[in-house]
Amino acid sequence: MIKVTSETCIYRFSKDNKPAASVESGETVIFETLDCFGNQIQSNDDKLETMDWNRVNPATGPVYVNGAEPGDVLKVTIQRITCRNKGVIATGENFGVLGDKFKGLVSRVVPIKDDMAVFDEKLSLPLNRMIGVIGVAPEGEALNTGTPGHHGGNMDNTRITENAVLYLPVAVPGALFALGDLHAVMGDGEISGTGLEVAGEVQVQLEVIKGLKLNNPVLENENFYAAIASAATLDEAVSASVSDMFDIAASRIELPDTEITMLFSLAGQTQICQVVDPLKTARFVIPKCVLEKYNFKFV
Ligand code: CA
Ligand code: ZN
Repeated sequence: MIKVTSETCIYRFSKDNKPAASVESGETVIFETLDCFGNQIQSNDDKLETMDWNRVNPATGPVYVNGAEPGDVLKVTIQRITCRNKGVIATGENFGVLGDKFKGLVSRVVPIKDDMAVFDEKLSLPLNRMIGVIGVAPEGEALNTGTPGHHGGNMDNTRITENAVLYLPVAVPGALFALGDLHAVMGDGEISGTGLEVAGEVQVQLEVIKGLKLNNPVLENENFYAAIASAATLDEAVSASVSDMFDIAASRIELPDTEITMLFSLAGQTQICQVVDPLKTARFVIPKCVLEKYNFKFV
């Protein structure tokens, strides 16, 4: 099995990045990842102010997937996510939703024990290991790894977890897939500006799917399909995610457009991924049990 170490990481998703590895469609790859601060905050004595901000949001890769062409979809099956036994959370001035309340930046190292994040002596939180940054190279200009978009990127979606499947629209030959920015636990919105940022390892299977056209990333798990969209405002991100899911459903199930809309209104959930990155990200979630009544097949 191919393993890509965190020594080969990128700070921009770009068609010009040199691949760290090449794989065949269907292969399984292990990615070793640094945390979003490049592992620079190891104790409560390490300060964000003096950290090297050029090493923020590293994504391990990219991996060139043979046969992936623009217009295809890269199916990413997340088989396993493991993380280290401590993470870091941060907030402060101009950082996160409440950034106008603070002076300076603060961070805190949080121990992880028995699958729980030990916030303080009163409270431990159950982990929900998720991938913050996961995507492919965009067609045009490079995008920094802190930004989400059509290519995926920094979506900070709490549902990108073990056993989820992410479908990414391929924009360049080989897709140039990379991932990083694991969170041991995070609430929807990521309001402080970070989750519980943690280094770790992710095992994924990468498959090229021909003939499946997507505008934006789509997420599947045991229970639902979700269309994920990012935009300058949350309003626009919500509209785009609903519209994408509508197009997906309308081309696959035999219902009038108005009835699909009614169905979405009754059974679909608009949810926030994050509100703190350069673009905001929303997801529109439809339960599989609803779509299956209409013989929906995604692929
Ligand atoms: Ca992130
Ligand atoms: Zn993060």
